[in-house]
Amino acid sequence: MKRFLRTILLVDLFEGLWLTLRTQHPRNITTEQYPAVIPKVGERYRGLPRLNTNPETGETLCISCDLCALACPETLIVVGWVRNPETKRKDLVNFTYDTSRCMFCGLCEDACPVDALELTQDYQMASFTREGQIFDREVLEEGTKPTKFKW
Ligand code: SF4
Ligand code: SF4
Repeated sequence: MKRFLRTILLVDLFEGLWLTLRTQHPRNITTEQYPAVIPKVGERYRGLPRLNTNPETGETLCISCDLCALACPETLIVVGWVRNPETKRKDLVNFTYDTSRCMFCGLCEDACPVDALELTQDYQMASFTREGQIFDREVLEEGTKPTKFKW
């Protein structure tokens, strides 16, 4: 009889709803509130690649030596350059990095003789298309611009 009354009066349902309501206060939240709060990753985490520039002049540190592209087992880095007839040096024209194929092993970063290429601790690099995962020089120098969510 008791079981029957509990069933027709939906006691179990209301008990469940009450339990849910009791735990709605923000202090009870235990999950990480990404993307409102960006979790920190380990110091040695290898994520979003960055092409470093001189902070004073804004000029790229890359000397277009191609060593990163040669070191990459996935051959996903393409360094575009032209020979400057005056300085006889290589001038960087473009630099593409296909993050969709990257395994973030860090071999390219280690191969760079001037610390121009760096794998940072940033990991917000998702995109809706495969083409969007191929970063050009501009994205590599300025970083991605992930959508900011407001809460
Ligand atoms: S991290 Fe590894 S796979 Fe990714 S570009 Fe560098 S060398 Fe290639
Ligand atoms: S190894 Fe460094 S300097 Fe050489 S092309 Fe790559 S990023 Fe540029």
